[in-house]
Amino acid sequence: MTLAMPLMTYGTLSLRAKRSNPSLANKRYLLIRDKQGCEKTYKKKKFLHSNIIKNLRDMQTNMLPIKPYDCLRSSQEIRLWYEKNYHLLSRAGLWLKGEEPNTMDPALFYQAELRFLICRLSTYRDVSVSISHPLVAQIAQEVAGVFTDFAFLPPPKDLGVMTDAHIPLWVGTTTKEPPGAFDVLGISNSFVLELLNLPKLLHFSGIPLFKNERMMRSDIPLIVLGGASAAVTSVLHGPTQEQDFGNTCGLVDAVFLGEGEYSLKQFLEIVKRGKSAGLSKSEILQACHGKVDGFYEPDKYEHRYQIVVQNPAGTPMEAEITQGNLLEISPKEPYVSYPVRSAVVYDLDQVKTLETGPIWYETEGLGAGSLQISSGCPCFCSFCAESWERKPYRERSLLKLLEALKAAKAQQGLDTVALFSFNFNTHSELYPMILSFYREMDSVSLKSQRFDLLSADRFLAEVQQVIGKTTVSCGMEGISERLRRFLHKNLTEEQIYKACEYLLERGIRELKIFLICTGLEQAEDFEEFGRFVKRLDDLKGMSGSNVRIIFSLTPLYYPPHTPLQFHECLTAIADIKKISRAIERICKLQNMEFRESATHEEIWMTQLLAMGDRRLTAALIRSSITDGFVYYNAIPKQILRNWRAYLMELGLSEENYFCAKGKDHVFPWDDIDLGISKKFLWEEHERSIHFQEREYCLGRPHVEARCLGCGACPTPAQIKKLTHHTISQPFLMEEILRITASKRNKRILRAVVEIESTLRLAPKRFVGVAIARALMLAIPEVVPYYQAVSSSMQYLEEESAIADFTHGMNVYHLSFLSHDTTKKLLDNESLSLRLNRIQEHCRGFRIRECMVDPGDMPEVHGILYKICLPAEFTAPFLQQKLGAYLHANYVRHTLLKREGQTIFQVDPKHRKNAVVLYARIDKTHRTKEADTEFSLYMLASRRFRMQEFLEACYGFERRREIVRTQIEALGYYGKNPVLQQGAQCTSCHTPISEAFLFSQSSGENRCLFCSTQPNPH
Ligand code: SF4
Ligand code: SF4
Repeated sequence: MTLAMPLMTYGTLSLRAKRSNPSLANKRYLLIRDKQGCEKTYKKKKFLHSNIIKNLRDMQTNMLPIKPYDCLRSSQEIRLWYEKNYHLLSRAGLWLKGEEPNTMDPALFYQAELRFLICRLSTYRDVSVSISHPLVAQIAQEVAGVFTDFAFLPPPKDLGVMTDAHIPLWVGTTTKEPPGAFDVLGISNSFVLELLNLPKLLHFSGIPLFKNERMMRSDIPLIVLGGASAAVTSVLHGPTQEQDFGNTCGLVDAVFLGEGEYSLKQFLEIVKRGKSAGLSKSEILQACHGKVDGFYEPDKYEHRYQIVVQNPAGTPMEAEITQGNLLEISPKEPYVSYPVRSAVVYDLDQVKTLETGPIWYETEGLGAGSLQISSGCPCFCSFCAESWERKPYRERSLLKLLEALKAAKAQQGLDTVALFSFNFNTHSELYPMILSFYREMDSVSLKSQRFDLLSADRFLAEVQQVIGKTTVSCGMEGISERLRRFLHKNLTEEQIYKACEYLLERGIRELKIFLICTGLEQAEDFEEFGRFVKRLDDLKGMSGSNVRIIFSLTPLYYPPHTPLQFHECLTAIADIKKISRAIERICKLQNMEFRESATHEEIWMTQLLAMGDRRLTAALIRSSITDGFVYYNAIPKQILRNWRAYLMELGLSEENYFCAKGKDHVFPWDDIDLGISKKFLWEEHERSIHFQEREYCLGRPHVEARCLGCGACPTPAQIKKLTHHTISQPFLMEEILRITASKRNKRILRAVVEIESTLRLAPKRFVGVAIARALMLAIPEVVPYYQAVSSSMQYLEEESAIADFTHGMNVYHLSFLSHDTTKKLLDNESLSLRLNRIQEHCRGFRIRECMVDPGDMPEVHGILYKICLPAEFTAPFLQQKLGAYLHANYVRHTLLKREGQTIFQVDPKHRKNAVVLYARIDKTHRTKEADTEFSLYMLASRRFRMQEFLEACYGFERRREIVRTQIEALGYYGKNPVLQQGAQCTSCHTPISEAFLFSQSSGENRCLFCSTQPNPH
């Protein structure tokens, strides 16, 4: 579709026209300007026949009858459904289980004054390492009387399962309450593509799509949105009246711009007071203006658009219309700010970083947490949204960070802490921070750092080596200095080379270098890059390094609120394949690895949604609900085709969104102010297209830093703090080496635990981390000395554990630094005295025993399981299946029937290599397991494959039900019964042939057979 020549323009009357003719002020007219510049006004209805209006009507017809999906409204029904059907969900529905440590007790839901559901647009797994939604919960919980729960986008295969059963897609994972039971739904939005999922999540959660309808219903919560991408959400705030959608508008009721530490609390307080005073939702929202920092209510601003008329030679009745630019934005109400200034927390020491984040049921991230050491970035990279949206750069002091570390470590059972920041190596207290964090934690994770700062600090490379950082990532971005100046990267080739030299001489194993494809690459840029990669390869050879060097290329994204907002979106307009192939060739020529981190489709879609305005809401709804697309980390080609068709139908053009814009261009986000003026952005853009850059404003050695006048700092003192910034002196290398040496001296604590069946689907490492948490909460003095969960009787790693949903006995080893405090507090006697206190912090498991320095984890020869299959698995059926399994695995055995039991007595001569050492089918005690008729007791060797056996029992058709089987580990048995040699069973007086390592029953003086006999009581 091509953009029509703007021979005429069309729109609602301009302010100037309204002023000159007040009688027209509230009516909607078409304003037609002909070639000679003469203006005529027409009543809008004359254009009803035109294509655009027709298509809008079609889209409206497709969209407006969308009634919220009929979802279950009772948490009891939802809970019942979950308990019966969890096995149909991905990973047996673990993501919907809830009640993770540090989530709120569901019993508090009903007595809460305000119920707040924190919703994500991505899946539980995808956001399990994110700190944003846990931080929102932590902030909200500081407001008295607020209850929080979480909701996530269901994984792909669960969407259909849930909608078929009328389960709201956004359901409180812990409470199982539907959205309607909450007062506020807070959506945490991290990146633009997530927005594609919003309409579907609202609709299939039973929530009306548009604000006006929601406002009329008191049973629907307020829908607010915040998060890193909240300032790039114009596409959510339509449709507009100009599109003939009546008064419908707004997928969300309000947006929080900027940092939420204060604003969220201000908002929740107002809602809480408003609710108790019986105010309507509209009244509550109105009360937030001027009282909640960064509070933006999109429907309180009118956005007026230009319309371009084709075939102007004919009468207006024959005209074809396409839509043009946004002409003007104006506030509709006197009480709203215009523009709305985003919230900034200038003093990070006054607010908390994340301390009480839930421990999610996901292996990735278990035991690892992040502490936000700084906010914003002092640099001015033109492509970086964070840089421009989060200025000025601020730091949290080491004193506060150490307090936070202590609390977070105990609350989350942490062994690893990541320094969360845009660049950790700008922090003024970096060195004392590394030293003290490294002293307290098993591992310190340093993520992003600037090459230029590293090139001036050889010592930092050395420190990274000592603390075990073997993988380093750095942003080079432009492939040549010219392109880096375009991107305002402030980075020379010499600096990159020097930093690499330091890293390679320190023996790092992997170096990941990020590149950006700008679409402006020319022959000389490729040549320069080729010479650099060759130099890097020579350096690798000279330093004798085996480092794996990976170049990762991303097409340039032109974010709103940055200097690049004015730039032509080259990488969205054309696929950059040719350029990326050329870069790939250069990398591979020198044996470097090359990766692409985003497809053209992803960049196109991101760019369109980011540059898009309120007129795209209709298309967003169409894509999400009518066409059913859900974004799960990929944008298929067909989605692009769909979106191009939507644009055509709406009379919109992608060229219009992607073209270069002038300094007076009206952007859909001009009603918000993120602290940097549009004028400053334009000047930076001008500089960038002339490949010029200025030094950033952070004080550094050998650089005379000065304020560039971006306007983000509120006071001269703040400016001085930045321009005179210094980094504290490094510590002596001996100090950190001493800590490393002390870490070799550890005290091991063994915890024998009994895991309840409610936690049987959680990763095995999860319980280990939860034990560490319980110990640290009960004995705070040991917090600085805890290191990690070092081993477990059952598998710690997810690959092996994925099929292991055993509960019952398990044994964990936790390591602590050996120190006078740990010697005193972690001895067997003190621990047994404190066991009850520790137990108070255990949910879903119970610690039976703690032992200190117990030696290595004993080698296990057999595990005794009790397996309860559903009631329809009869004794003869189990006998037949087990018999067949033993036969297939060459286990020679004799079948005995004794007092209602069926016993598989394994031939003693074959026990050594058998996968099953003993098995017995018993009638189940109905009082304990209601849903099962018979239990199978089985002593299996390490080579036994539970999954395989269960698959044989259930058969292919019922394989998804396998996870319903209750498998309890009753005990572990050793190979060499040295201790038991000669001992006799106190019950049957036969010789004891197994060594009891850990057992649920008192098996020490009884043979295996007697120890597994059901308790007659
Ligand atoms: S250094 Fe540049 S890319 Fe990195 S966070 Fe700062 S502004 Fe963004
Ligand atoms: S106001 Fe000056 S010192 Fe502050 S961030 Fe902007 S350029 Fe830097």
